[in-house]
Amino acid sequence: MPPKTSIPEAIWPPVSGPRATMLLALLYQLEQSQWWSSRNILAQQFRQLNELVDHAERTVPYYHQIRRKAGLAPQEPITAENWQAIPLLTPAALIKHAGQMASTAIPPGHGRITGLKSSGSTGHAVSVLATGATGLIWQALNLRDHLWQARDVSKRLVTIRSGRYVKEPGVLYEFPGWGIATDLVFQTGPSALFHNLTALERQAEFLQKLKPDYLFAFPGIILRLAHYFRRHQLRLPGLKQVLTFGEPTSPEIESLCREVWDTECRDMYSAEEAGCIALQCPQTDNYHVQSESLLVEVLDDKGDPCEPGEIGRVILTTLHNFAMPLIRYQIGDYAEAGGPCPCGRGLPTLKRILGRRRNRARLPDGRRIWPQLSSESWSDIKEIECIQIRQKTLDRLDIGVVSPHPLNLSDETRLTGSLHQVFGYPFACIFSCLDAIPCHVNGKFEPFISELDDNRDE
Ligand SMILES: [Zn+2]
Repeated sequence: MPPKTSIPEAIWPPVSGPRATMLLALLYQLEQSQWWSSRNILAQQFRQLNELVDHAERTVPYYHQIRRKAGLAPQEPITAENWQAIPLLTPAALIKHAGQMASTAIPPGHGRITGLKSSGSTGHAVSVLATGATGLIWQALNLRDHLWQARDVSKRLVTIRSGRYVKEPGVLYEFPGWGIATDLVFQTGPSALFHNLTALERQAEFLQKLKPDYLFAFPGIILRLAHYFRRHQLRLPGLKQVLTFGEPTSPEIESLCREVWDTECRDMYSAEEAGCIALQCPQTDNYHVQSESLLVEVLDDKGDPCEPGEIGRVILTTLHNFAMPLIRYQIGDYAEAGGPCPCGRGLPTLKRILGRRRNRARLPDGRRIWPQLSSESWSDIKEIECIQIRQKTLDRLDIGVVSPHPLNLSDETRLTGSLHQVFGYPFACIFSCLDAIPCHVNGKFEPFISELDDNRDE
């Protein structure tokens, strides 16, 4: 799709405006860097990291002693070899030292400083500063996602979320374009927004009226909507793609999108305080880390980097935030490390995003697992829409079931058998009926939550 012209008479080739030109210039570089070898990408990241760490040491009170705390000599270059000596930053430490985290001398040229607040799903609401420069890079990564997923931005987009522009549930907000970054560069189609706490029936009404080509929402919202559409035999002809963000998705949501709307579902891993962290590969289901914006590590319980296939904590460093650098920030999510992607891109991969520590089960034999719940496990028990499981004690699960009919004893026995297979342990299962798919106050849904003390989030 050609970019938009800023001179109405210059139709071909179109002449972009100043901000759009900056975005296109960044995109041009991203188009190339994605194909570099992972070694070259890492080398470029460390060039940038040295700049960032030097700045942080000089101007951010919290980081004044960063090299000394890591056992490094003053001005010793930061390398891939000594990087792991740099201490981790937890969300709790970020809150505790909030007054010492901002740079006292943000270099000129980084643009306007803005405040961001994370949704606080770990129980910590984290505030960070961002700059015009970080905003520009995050916008370019959003455009990269549109390009990777081959979206036709001249079509209609519907987004379901809360935030600055959607304060009131139940209200439909309509716009002539897709949003700041995309509108600057391309001639976009119309878009609409509504709040994720809008009543489900009303959400379905909005969608049927708007007939979106693209639908962006939390996986939990897509789950509830897909069940609603299936139950009421409603359709969304023309829907080309669902994009999920904001919480871990699951193979079940993908298969529901295919079954109910005959459409594919793509996912994005992002965080308020760090922007876009990883995007799904156009050719595979891998998530490519956005290495031009962040260094992402996946560490095991001992603090060592995970091998492909291993699950660990996600640690990230924002490369361009010179207002409030986040260096080795333990964001609170767990992910499965991936290997090289068959697509040929050198950007490192994550295989799956698994959620928070509370979404991990502990088994009496000491194992910890991330249960992969899928409706295929209970597809022979008719009319179960959804289940949510809470681990109450080491050997007991409480299963909340959303179904129009109460389960009978035989259903419960079969479901118990399926869950024993999923967990690989014969948990005692206690069943209860739920009226609707349970969501957090922010509209997010977690299929499994452990309530064991040592499993609470940091
Ligand atoms: Zn790939």
